Amino acid sequence: MTLEEKAGKSLEELGTTDAQEVARLFGEAEQFLGSQENEVLSLENDQEFGLKAKALRDFWLSRKNGLIAQMDKTWLKGAPKQLRPIVGFHFNSLRGRAEQLEERLDKRRKRILKTVRGLEDERPRQTPTDLTLPGYRRPLGSFHPVTRVQREIEDIFLGLGFSIETGPEIESVYYNFDALNIPETHPSRDDWDTLYIDDQTVLRTHTSPAQMRAMEKRGAPLYIIAPGKCYRHDKPDSTHSPMFHQIEGLAIDTDITFGDLKGTLDFFAKKFFGEKVRTRFNPSFFPFTEPSGEVSASCPFCDGRGCRRCKESGWIELLGCGMVHPDVLRYGGIDPDRYSGWAFGLGIDRFAMVKYDITDIQLFFQSDVRFLEQF
Ligand SMILES: [Zn+2]
Repeated sequence: MTLEEKAGKSLEELGTTDAQEVARLFGEAEQFLGSQENEVLSLENDQEFGLKAKALRDFWLSRKNGLIAQMDKTWLKGAPKQLRPIVGFHFNSLRGRAEQLEERLDKRRKRILKTVRGLEDERPRQTPTDLTLPGYRRPLGSFHPVTRVQREIEDIFLGLGFSIETGPEIESVYYNFDALNIPETHPSRDDWDTLYIDDQTVLRTHTSPAQMRAMEKRGAPLYIIAPGKCYRHDKPDSTHSPMFHQIEGLAIDTDITFGDLKGTLDFFAKKFFGEKVRTRFNPSFFPFTEPSGEVSASCPFCDGRGCRRCKESGWIELLGCGMVHPDVLRYGGIDPDRYSGWAFGLGIDRFAMVKYDITDIQLFFQSDVRFLEQF
């Protein structure tokens, strides 16, 4: 017979007729309570504990059907007169224990709440960490080769007293073409070369608009470089990308001559490629400079003898440059009779390709970790 069934019967029906048997009966009940309590308190899972604790409480203490309520009715109230004091004594003791049960369950419940709130975790810790194990290696990122080369070039010019200017990548036709003396008939304005957003707005095709904005904002004298992304309507191939990077330089002051331009760019080439490098200036044409030139450096890899990287020519084309056209100075609000200046523009991607011997510009923009982690 289970304790539950026994609680439904009177002492007489159970054959409990003396003090000793009363004590044994209540002893059995207390033991049962104790073992149930231990079982619930040892539950690891908080949710399971919550459910079982409530069931246990109801099992013993429910006002209507709880064991205590039943025993009160059948055992205590139904006890023969001579046994009632001893039954009362054991009954009170059992009820006391059952009521304390609720307290003990509550303690555990509060602990769960605390844990949930993250205030305290009183449960025993898991196996301690073995501090002698080697640590986890977190892979570190590195600078993109284009960024590295850009910073290297920036550092050289910052060292010469230039400052860095930036400008918008979505640019007006005025700043991208008009103010730079590029006539409306110039082929670079064509849809085939320029990405138009609307009639008056383009994705800048070069960083020169940043120079124009700097002239307007700061006037002369001016020594700046303008690095950034540019966009052209180019089909991607091993040497072309619709997005690429440029750095342009601009120096405006009184008495600036072509000699200053040559000296500065020669210094720059030697700083970037090594002291042994020689520079060569060839005449060229750009609408925004007059005269204009293209600069090559003797190949730093073969010392000018000819190799794969310089296509056996002994020279590597570096950049375009020239003396700023007086009309451009005027557009920038600078008096060309008082000031003169030089400018240059170079492709950072191309510099990075030469420096790291990369034959396909697309590698810069494919985000292939196997490529990028080499830098
Ligand atoms: Zn070479």
